[in-house]
Amino acid sequence: MERPNDRALRARAEAVIPGGMFGHQSTALLPDDYPQYFVKAKGAHLWDADGGRVLDLMCAYGPNLFGYGDEAIDAAFIDQLRQGDTLTGPAPVMIDLAEALVGMIGHADWALFCKNGGDATTMALTVARAQTRRKVVIRARGAYHGSTPWCTPRTAGVLESDRAHQILCDYNDVASLEAAVEAAGDDLAAIFAAPFRHDAFIDQAEPEAAYAARARELCDRTGALLVLDEVRAGFRLSRDCSWSHLGVEPDLSTWGKGLANGHALSALLGSDSARKGAEAIYATGSFWYQAAPMAAAIEVLRRIRETDYLERLETLGERLASGLSERASAAGFGFRITGPGQMPLFLFDEDPDLRKGFFWSSAMLARGVYVHPWHNMFLCDAMTEEDIDQALDAAEESFAELRKAAPGLSPVARMAFLAQTR
Ligand SMILES: *Cc1c(COP(=O)(O)O)cnc(C)c1O
Repeated sequence: MERPNDRALRARAEAVIPGGMFGHQSTALLPDDYPQYFVKAKGAHLWDADGGRVLDLMCAYGPNLFGYGDEAIDAAFIDQLRQGDTLTGPAPVMIDLAEALVGMIGHADWALFCKNGGDATTMALTVARAQTRRKVVIRARGAYHGSTPWCTPRTAGVLESDRAHQILCDYNDVASLEAAVEAAGDDLAAIFAAPFRHDAFIDQAEPEAAYAARARELCDRTGALLVLDEVRAGFRLSRDCSWSHLGVEPDLSTWGKGLANGHALSALLGSDSARKGAEAIYATGSFWYQAAPMAAAIEVLRRIRETDYLERLETLGERLASGLSERASAAGFGFRITGPGQMPLFLFDEDPDLRKGFFWSSAMLARGVYVHPWHNMFLCDAMTEEDIDQALDAAEESFAELRKAAPGLSPVARMAFLAQTR
């Protein structure tokens, strides 16, 4: 598909943005015909710079939970913006928000606010070390907790000392978790966990109850803190922490992405077991008291408590997953849809260099549906059954197109880049 305006923007960016793009939209990470720039969004849809409109199954990588440009959430944001946003100190809405979160999240006795998920996860690490006066953190290999040096997936410019005092284990593997705790000796500060395995490039996996329970027990036994990283999955699986249904509560939980429906806000929530550590650290930022995103979050939390958005997302997710697997098998493809329906990840069988995935994703895009070839996707409350059915029609045609084609090898540069990131 021709996208002259997007091409022109990319050409300008080449001169003034290193690599033409940074981070998760780096050109090599996505099919070449994917638009890099978007000029407008509403509800479940995005408009690219060439006027194309797509159903967006990425939801801004998570922040879009209730729809782009949601009227009520943005009205709360704008009202607060007019009253005062970035000020010398916070507005009272900060306390309203902390009270709302403490009232909703079972383990939470307090809240601290920041901007990005990485602020919250880094602060969780610091709080855990301050609270326990110990150094070692255990986290799962391949799990994403942000792009700060202690956890960024690419290690250019990162020192070994930035990564010191960390032990990696395998998600859902109790024996590897136990071995990591053993290796930490009497210096274990925290165990980090994702609500489910939502790593890029591999099938997603539900958390095993035994793994979650063992992580809690090991923290209790050693005096370490359990940190649940809800930045991605928060409020898409549960109205509480995602492990509550397993009967496991963390000491610290980190939130971001959907918390203010696209407005810049993240949070670290903690139990009293970590309050002293939270009081001891110094962490802040010029924009961390911003009041308008907090006002937006209050409205988001109200919607979470008072509407059936979660049940809707689950129903839409089931419709998408079952419809896709029917269409894939009718077309003769092994096509794996893993993870919760509202946060699915798609991978083709026998596709080691992702050429089928990239080809199929491009075919979907040409039919007006933006999917991701190796990262989990997100549903939002603005989506309808008709949207899902449109995606299923597009999928049927895209499987047929893939059947006819023999997709070529992925460009060498892209594969090298992917290999580095993996
Ligand atoms: C995105 C993400 C982060 C980092 O959040 P940013 O807002 O990108 O800094 C941390 N943890 C998880 C699980 C994430 O998905």
